[in-house]
Amino acid sequence: MLRLTPILLAVLYALVFYRFSVWRTHRELDQRSTELADPELKRLTDRLAAALDLARVPVYIYEIDPVNGLAAPDGRIFITRGFYRKFRNGEVTGEEMASVIAHELGHVALGHARRRMIDFSGQNAMRTALAMLLGRFIPFVGVWIANGLTTLLAARLSRADEYEADEYAAALLTKAGIGTEPQKSLFRKLEALTQSRAGVAPAWLLSHPKTNERIAALEALENRWNRG
Ligand SMILES: [Zn+2]
Repeated sequence: MLRLTPILLAVLYALVFYRFSVWRTHRELDQRSTELADPELKRLTDRLAAALDLARVPVYIYEIDPVNGLAAPDGRIFITRGFYRKFRNGEVTGEEMASVIAHELGHVALGHARRRMIDFSGQNAMRTALAMLLGRFIPFVGVWIANGLTTLLAARLSRADEYEADEYAAALLTKAGIGTEPQKSLFRKLEALTQSRAGVAPAWLLSHPKTNERIAALEALENRWNRG
């Protein structure tokens, strides 16, 4: 029992830390967001909703500056104020915003949102618990291994999710009559933004695979559709 105590403590710590992070993330989203009231975007999200046989797509503005989109497990889609600003000042078109919303809807529909919340909140918990455990058996290096393992796992999980969400968005945008072009043009715009800011990528790109690989994947998908 005495030998097991540190392991139990680490697991318990991870669980508590994880629950707390999920609660904190939800509260942060609730407190710092308002429902999107933009007639042009509403027309576009209504087309997505119609293609999905839904009454409406719940989109919220999350009051932070980094250009990002986010899906909550309850199905709410969040666009950051920074991203919306790019739409308002004409840098990003309404169709391109719709492509982000469609991508985030993909994360919800494919069940990624819950896992991503775990990504969001659980990564630190997992890192800490692993570091506590490994650190006991392999001093110093244990923490380093824990970091590496957590990062690797998270990257693998999210990469596959991103391609799936892109495919979902492509199908949905096509069904809604918007098409896949806005997806690709947005990727190119965000990529250009990265270059002009000396390699500092917008947050939405950071968590996602390489732009040219995503465009290539979309084009392969289109070819498959056109053949079929
Ligand atoms: Zn994504």
